[in-house]
Amino acid sequence: MQSSTHVRVRFAPSPTGSLHVGGGRTVLFNYLFAYGQARREGGDGTLILRIEDTDQTRLVEGAAQQIEDVLTWFGLTWDEGPDKGGPHGPYVQSQRLDKYQTAAQYLIDQGKAYRCFCSRERLQEVREAQQAKGLPPGYDRHCRNLRRADIDARLGEGAPFTVRFSMPRSGETTVTDMIRGDMTFQNEHLEDLVLLKSDGYPTYHLGNVVDDYDMEITHIMRGDEWIATAPIHVNLYKAFGWDVPKIAHMPLILAPGGGKLSKRHGSTAMEEFRIQGYLPEALMNYLALLGWSLDGTTEIFSKQDLLAHFTLERVSPSPATFDYAKLLWFNQHYINHILTVDDLVARVAPFLIEAGLIDETWLEAGSDRLALLTEATRLLKDRMRTLAEAPELMGYFLQDELPDYDAALLIPKKTEPAQVKTALDAVAGWLPDADLDNLEQTEADLRGLAESLGLKAGQLFMPIRVAATGRTESPGLFETLRAIGKDRLTRRLDTARQSFG
Ligand code: GLU
Repeated sequence: MQSSTHVRVRFAPSPTGSLHVGGGRTVLFNYLFAYGQARREGGDGTLILRIEDTDQTRLVEGAAQQIEDVLTWFGLTWDEGPDKGGPHGPYVQSQRLDKYQTAAQYLIDQGKAYRCFCSRERLQEVREAQQAKGLPPGYDRHCRNLRRADIDARLGEGAPFTVRFSMPRSGETTVTDMIRGDMTFQNEHLEDLVLLKSDGYPTYHLGNVVDDYDMEITHIMRGDEWIATAPIHVNLYKAFGWDVPKIAHMPLILAPGGGKLSKRHGSTAMEEFRIQGYLPEALMNYLALLGWSLDGTTEIFSKQDLLAHFTLERVSPSPATFDYAKLLWFNQHYINHILTVDDLVARVAPFLIEAGLIDETWLEAGSDRLALLTEATRLLKDRMRTLAEAPELMGYFLQDELPDYDAALLIPKKTEPAQVKTALDAVAGWLPDADLDNLEQTEADLRGLAESLGLKAGQLFMPIRVAATGRTESPGLFETLRAIGKDRLTRRLDTARQSFG
C-alpha cells in the first residue's frame, strides 16, 4: 500500500461503558495496520489511544481504566495515550478543552461557525413543528445570520450560547473510504451541528476532528456506525483548511440471524468474554476474521501471524456475522491444541482460585500441589472449552473430599447393587498394595479383578470411576486414579461402600 509508511492511527473510545466487541475489532485492525502492515512496509506505524469523554452526561466512572485494562488483557499495546503520554497529549479530551474553544473561535472568526442563542424550549418547538409537518428534524439555522449588534447584546447580557457549524447549504461532499470507495452526500441534508456546547465542552464532531488533526492522524479507521458523520467531518476539515486524513469504516458486525449485535444475543462486551473464560488469543483470532481474511480458508492466526499478514486491502466492506459457536470453537481449539499445559495451568488458576478450589500456594514451583494441578490440567485440557469450565471439570482432582453425588450412579446398567458392593469391597482390598503409578499394572490388576468377580470390565470400572470422581465421565480411569492418589481414593471408596448401608 502506498503512503502507509507514515502511519498514525488512533482508537478513540468514549468511556460510556464496557468496550464492545465491535470496538475490540476496530482497535485490533488499527493495531494490525500500524504495527503490522505499516511497519512491515518499512514505515513507522504508531497507535494512539485517546479517550473521548466530552459527553459528560454519559460518562461511566472507571470505564476509561477498564477499557485500557481489557485492551492490555487482549494483548494490544499502543504508543501514545493517557497512561503513556506522548508528544500530542493530553490524550483525554476533557483535559484539552482550551484547544476546542480556540478552534471554535477560529471558525467563528472565519465566518464558518456562529453562536447560537436558541433556548432548549425553542429548539424543542422547532422540532415539534417539523415533526407535525412530516419534515426531518433539524436546526432551522435561526442564529446563522444574526446581526452583529444582536450578538453583542446577547453576549453583553451573559446569555448562554452554543457554537454551530455553518454547513455549506448546497453542493455535495464526497468521502473517499479506503474500504468502500467514494460515498457522496448532499450538503443540504447536513445540519448546522453544534460544535461547542454551552458548558464549553466540544461535541464529538469538533473534539474528534481537532484531535485527529492535532495528533497528526494519517488514517481514521473506525466502526461503520460513524459513516454518517464522515461528510460532516470532511466539511469541518475543509473549513479549518486542513487535509482530510484517509478514512476507512470497518464492516458492520451483525447478530446471528441478522440485525445489530446486542445483549439480547449474548455477551457483547470484551470484558464479559474475559470473565467467561475466553482466551485473548482466541478472541483476537476470531475478531480478526470478522471482516478480514488472508485467503478465505486459513482460520488459525496467532497475533504474530496477523501482524505478518494483515492488510487493510483485504478488509471487506460486507457485513460480518458474529457467530458465538464459532468463537467457542476457536477458544476450545486454543485450549486443546495450542496452549502448552503449563500455560493453561497459569490461565485456569485464577478461575480455580475464584471458585475456592485452590489458593496461591498451589502455584509454588516444584510443589506437589502444582504437580497435581498440572496433571489434572493435562488430563482435562481436551474436554475444556472455556477457562471458566475448569472448576467444574477439575474439582475432583483438586478437592480432598468429593461433594455429595447421587449414589445411584455407582450402579451400572445390568448390574445388581450387591455386585457393585462386593466389587468395591474387592477394590478396597486391592488398593493398599496397588502400584497406581504403573498404569499397565493397574489396568491388568483391575481387569483380573473383574474377571474373578464374574463382571465385565465396564461393570467394575464404572463404579470405581464414580467412587473416585463422583461422576460417570472422566479422563482415562487409570491416569485418573493415579492423579487422585491412594489416600484420597481409599477415603472415596469408603464413602461409596457406605452408601450401600
Ligand atoms: N468516540 C467515538 C467512539 O466512541 C470515536 C469514533 C471515531 O473513531 O471517530 O467510538
